[in-house]
Amino acid sequence: MANVANCKKCGALFLQTSKRDICDKCFEIQNKMVSEINSYVMMSPLETIPLDTILSRFDLSIDEFESLFNAGKFVRIGQKVTIKCAKCGNIVPIANKTNMLCASCARKLQNEI
Ligand SMILES: [Zn+2]
Ligand SMILES: [Zn+2]
Repeated sequence: MANVANCKKCGALFLQTSKRDICDKCFEIQNKMVSEINSYVMMSPLETIPLDTILSRFDLSIDEFESLFNAGKFVRIGQKVTIKCAKCGNIVPIANKTNMLCASCARKLQNEI
């Protein structure tokens, strides 16, 4: 059974046939952007690229990036893109990212919980 839902991105009504919460149009735009980001990172002659550069270049919010990243859309760029750890400020590859923390801060946080 399909539900009619509001697209989380543009607000349009669409027929929800899967768990996806955005409409076909936005999904297509998102897929296109994901592959553009992937090829941008792969093609870049730079050794590492700060995540901020990508966010501003593709006009992407950190939340959006994170949910795409967590969905496994950016696996191939993981080693090249770097983030600044939200806790200690270390620059680390995003491959180790959990909530924008470096591996050791993420581990510490997990131990605290
Ligand atoms: Zn939409
Ligand atoms: Zn850290």
